Amino acid sequence: AIVYSHIEKSFGRTMVLEDISLSVDAAETICLLGPSGSGKSTLLRCTNLLEVPDHGQISIHGQVITDRGADVDGIRTRVGMVFQRFNLFPHCSVLDNVTMALRAVRNKRRDEAVAIARAKLELVGLDHLRDRRPAQLSGGQQQRVAIARALAMSPEVMLFDEATSALDPELVGEVLDVMRDLAKQGMTMVVVTHQMRFAREVASRVVFLDHGHLLEIAPPEEFFENPRSDRLKLFLKRVL
Ligand code: ATP
Ligand code: MG
Repeated sequence: AIVYSHIEKSFGRTMVLEDISLSVDAAETICLLGPSGSGKSTLLRCTNLLEVPDHGQISIHGQVITDRGADVDGIRTRVGMVFQRFNLFPHCSVLDNVTMALRAVRNKRRDEAVAIARAKLELVGLDHLRDRRPAQLSGGQQQRVAIARALAMSPEVMLFDEATSALDPELVGEVLDVMRDLAKQGMTMVVVTHQMRFAREVASRVVFLDHGHLLEIAPPEEFFENPRSDRLKLFLKRVL
């Protein structure tokens, strides 16, 4: 589980997250929706300490990660993150992209790292392309490699920040399918997405952020059918 309590974050004088409290249960998939600039990415980035909250606490499986002196590298291996841009190493094969952190961070032997990496590539349907370079893959395939790379570290939690937003429309589905499978297998996930159908079908709860405030949180049926605030009603009218 991930527990956010009273998270605050400012950049300069702009308060970007204001008193965010939220518990993500183990095996739950939370979808984060909200207008541009509402703080979605910042909240995800706080979850693996790419940003540090100014106030409040985040704990993962009972361990507070926001304390001074927390083991940042250790925490990052427990929290996998997938971004809009895949950031694969262009000169390495698909397989090497997935084994790299296992070797460097986890100190795995090459054969061990390869076995883990191939299992994760298999999971995203790409083991047969392991010897290719990223440029020889479609965007959807590259994003699936990025997911396999994150999964190789055996994360307890997976964060997705608009993982399908940079993809051609016909490639979005294959990435969402992988994410859907992960959710089904019981991964704990926080997903920022514009894919309303995914949120409706996969999320256990949907969160609406607006100007750094957590305005609404509800199971998808209620969230989409019965929005309470005018802000959310307006947002849904625009995106649906
Ligand atoms: P989008 O849907 O466009 O990705 P978002 O909800 O992810 O938006 P954030 O990226 O979290 O929004 O940004 C929230 C606010 O914080 C924005 O006003 C943004 O300009 C500001 N911000 C984010 N990162 C920084 C930074 N490193 N320095 C200064 N301001 C920042
Ligand atoms: Mg963002």
